[in-house]
Amino acid sequence: MVNVNYEYTQHLMGTTVSLMLFEPNETAVQAVFQTIKMLEDKLTVNRSSSEVMSINLAAGHHPVIVSRSVFSLIEQAQKISLYFNSCFNFAIGPLVKLWKIGFNGYQVPSAKLIREKLLLIDPKNIELDANTYSVFLKKPGMEIDLGAIAKGYIADVVKSILHQHQVYKGIINLGGNVLTLDSSLTDGNGYWHIGLRKPFSTNGKLSGIIKVKDKSVVTSGIYERFFIQNDRLYHHLLNPQTGYPLNNELESVTIISDSSLEGDIYSTVFYGWGVDKSRQYLQKHQNLSAIFLLKNKTAILVNPENFIFQQIDTQYQIKTD
Ligand code: ADP
Ligand code: MG
Repeated sequence: MVNVNYEYTQHLMGTTVSLMLFEPNETAVQAVFQTIKMLEDKLTVNRSSSEVMSINLAAGHHPVIVSRSVFSLIEQAQKISLYFNSCFNFAIGPLVKLWKIGFNGYQVPSAKLIREKLLLIDPKNIELDANTYSVFLKKPGMEIDLGAIAKGYIADVVKSILHQHQVYKGIINLGGNVLTLDSSLTDGNGYWHIGLRKPFSTNGKLSGIIKVKDKSVVTSGIYERFFIQNDRLYHHLLNPQTGYPLNNELESVTIISDSSLEGDIYSTVFYGWGVDKSRQYLQKHQNLSAIFLLKNKTAILVNPENFIFQQIDTQYQIKTD
């Protein structure tokens, strides 16, 4: 067993990005951080310019040609937004910008403004041309937001860069989107140990530890970015039907999957579906696993053969499917 870890950290994408390797490798690490910066520069909507921002700024006017990687991610985002009868919607930008949840100036907007923005978030009004890699938002004021999948996509790219540098073991952590590579050298059975945060705990308490090998672990929760006003909690996962934060039985959804993109997609899709519908889907997709933490302090583990869950916080009653 190896007890020496090499950890590399940078603040990127508005969060802490860290790599944990068993051997030092400056070249690989530099390549990883440079690529993350480059992808963030293309995908962000939190700065005045990026490829996605050029699409948004041209809304209602003209199509914009983007790079192949950005086009391909947008294509996937549109497919999920149209295919799943879920709340996943990559055209949600106007509402995200209106609420500003997790940013300076967050607010509960007026019902009138919400109604206005709801007219600008139909993913069918986004035209993609795969021959020219161009994207056109048909109505002025429309905005693409890839926040629900960008980190997952980037984590998978980071894994391939590490492979190119012959790094096959380690952990990629993009602010909670965790991707484990192969098996761990520090656990006798080769498991990576990933902490699952106790919702709303402010001092790093865990509800449990998820043990996996060669898997992605991604969580979407209402305790990540939220504000409270008049005793009501407003969090950052919005319901495209109502324009308000999704309101259901869930505190968080964690997805254990092969790729981090899948994890990011399903953590948001399942949050929108709620437990029952997600469970039905999972029964037909055994390679995908989920941990649902409910507001009533139940933890539901579905397809538990792909991971081990070690409970830490005894407040949660665990149910396994
Ligand atoms: P994070 O890991 O940053 O919490 P999530 O994967 O949970 O991200 O996605 C949340 C982000 O996705 C929001 O900050 C917003 O940018 C965007 N978003 C909010 N509501 C939706 C929605 N209904 N469909 C798709 N994206 C959304
Ligand atoms: Mg997501």
